[in-house]
Amino acid sequence: MKQKNKGLNTVCTHVGELKDETYKGAVSPLYMSTSYAFEGVDVKRYPRYFNTPNQQALGEKIAALEHAEAALIFGSGMAAISTAMLTFLHAGDHVVLQNMLYGGTYNLITKHFENFGIEYSFTDGFSPDAFEQEIKENTKVIYIETPSNPLLTITDLKAVSEIAKKHDLISMIDNTFASPVNQNPIDFGIDVVIHSATKYMGGHSDICAGAVASTKENMDKIFQLAIGLGGSLSDYTVWLLERSIKTMGIRVKAQNENAQVLAEFLGNHKDIAKVNYPGLTSHPDHELASSQMRGFGGMLSFELKKGLEAAKFMRALQLIKPSMSLAGVESTVLSPSKTSHALMPPEERAAQGITDQLIRFSLGIEEAEDLIADIEQALEKVKLAESLVNSENY
Ligand code: PLP
Repeated sequence: MKQKNKGLNTVCTHVGELKDETYKGAVSPLYMSTSYAFEGVDVKRYPRYFNTPNQQALGEKIAALEHAEAALIFGSGMAAISTAMLTFLHAGDHVVLQNMLYGGTYNLITKHFENFGIEYSFTDGFSPDAFEQEIKENTKVIYIETPSNPLLTITDLKAVSEIAKKHDLISMIDNTFASPVNQNPIDFGIDVVIHSATKYMGGHSDICAGAVASTKENMDKIFQLAIGLGGSLSDYTVWLLERSIKTMGIRVKAQNENAQVLAEFLGNHKDIAKVNYPGLTSHPDHELASSQMRGFGGMLSFELKKGLEAAKFMRALQLIKPSMSLAGVESTVLSPSKTSHALMPPEERAAQGITDQLIRFSLGIEEAEDLIADIEQALEKVKLAESLVNSENY
């Protein structure tokens, strides 16, 4: 059988495997050495040089997943983001940023970039014009996230990459929310793809890691700064991450399906005011999402109808657990205004539409009917509590 491109699950399972030539074991051996010989070797290896056998092998897998030439694995998503950004942004440069970004990224930029002499502008909205309007003479990078956190807005990958090319800029995306299962930005012309591998790549809420994928030329530049900043990942965690990614394709598919079912359920529920999920035909960016994503992801957000308190609802959930993070096999809930976006000034949060009533779900792989039953019982509890409060007020 002739096949040029291997299927997603085959890439997840096999690309970048290390062969156990000694014992013929089924999985990649783990090389924990921090000390390698310097003479008579093809490469001088050291963990902070991102070139131990396990780091290199996982880099190949992530590059293949993102249709990139090369990739590096970092100690966290923020190590990946900061290293990639600072590679292409120096004192006197300017970056155009999408106006809704992960809170940690927003914090890095707004609290620290001025100290590095880097200027920045946030776009006013998500349209291609909104990006082009912010470009200045000294702009070097355009940075986006799609779908955005926590409102699941979609940015046009092709339009942004074309603007970047027209102005000779590097385009960068945080592709964490989509995962490479649902979206490959490089296919749309984006230059640098970043992941918090703590999320879908890890997938079991037990790994903190990051990744950057791009051309060999860009990755070599990123590598030169990365070895100085030193944000590499321990080989044991690299090995665990390789194992986790083997099931990423099937995990994310199940998570996509659960999110779609839950979004439709919430969208039709009388106690829900609003649902944000790009897989809903009512989502303003549904068509754009369909043109650049293979699946709509496992994340959604929503607001309860007035009078039903979000905090009480979240406390009443039994199966869906509160969590600061996302994308694990277990479904979780959070309040963006208290967690991911807590560092953002309240007036800025309000301007972006991130209210205290906004609830974000990260769907896991449980049966959808069990998740629905959990939501139903929590809503009943909140309504009962509200009706008791109201009756006491009479
Ligand atoms: N990007 C997104 C979209 C995230 O949600 C997060 C973390 O929640 C990060 C980046 C940062 O990743 P890490 O916590 O692995 O540094």
